Amino acid sequence: MKQEILKQLPKLIRAARLEQGITQIDLANKVGCKQSAISMMEGGRVEAIAEATYEKLAEVLNINISALTPVSAPIITAAAIAPLKPEVAMCANFQCPSNKPYIVGSDIYFMPTGKSGFSNRCAICGEILIKVCPHCGVKLQTPGGCCGHCGKPLLEFPEGYTEDVVGWVEQARIQSEQL
Ligand SMILES: [Zn+2]
Ligand SMILES: [Zn+2]
Repeated sequence: MKQEILKQLPKLIRAARLEQGITQIDLANKVGCKQSAISMMEGGRVEAIAEATYEKLAEVLNINISALTPVSAPIITAAAIAPLKPEVAMCANFQCPSNKPYIVGSDIYFMPTGKSGFSNRCAICGEILIKVCPHCGVKLQTPGGCCGHCGKPLLEFPEGYTEDVVGWVEQARIQSEQL
């Protein structure tokens, strides 16, 4: 793999992972490496991951490495390139369109779009903003649907909330995109 291509991968991997609502731990388990290695790699330490593991990561995350060329600008989601805000916050209301739902397997994850604002209340729905992980209490550092420290989802989809879960998610995603 060309060095220039390798250098593009950490950002792409992070963006794809967040987009798909996969935790660093889950990803590490899927490709057989340590969560700390994924964390270091996403932090820009390309050498933290073996080349063969990059290939597995690309496969798991549906990244087409052969389509990457040193000159082409990779498609990177806004969440991946946006500089970290001084405070990371997420609306505590799962129905709020500032949280975009994703289905991963049989679970639903919520990805904050950053439109909830950064005060104490959500700018969209008025709900309290989550600024620390409800599971481990660690301050949120990176925008994402799961805690960067313990890896648990920050928002839960209430069990039995609706029978048509897929339909609900589709509607909620549309609402979120129109925001
Ligand atoms: Zn809200
Ligand atoms: Zn946590």
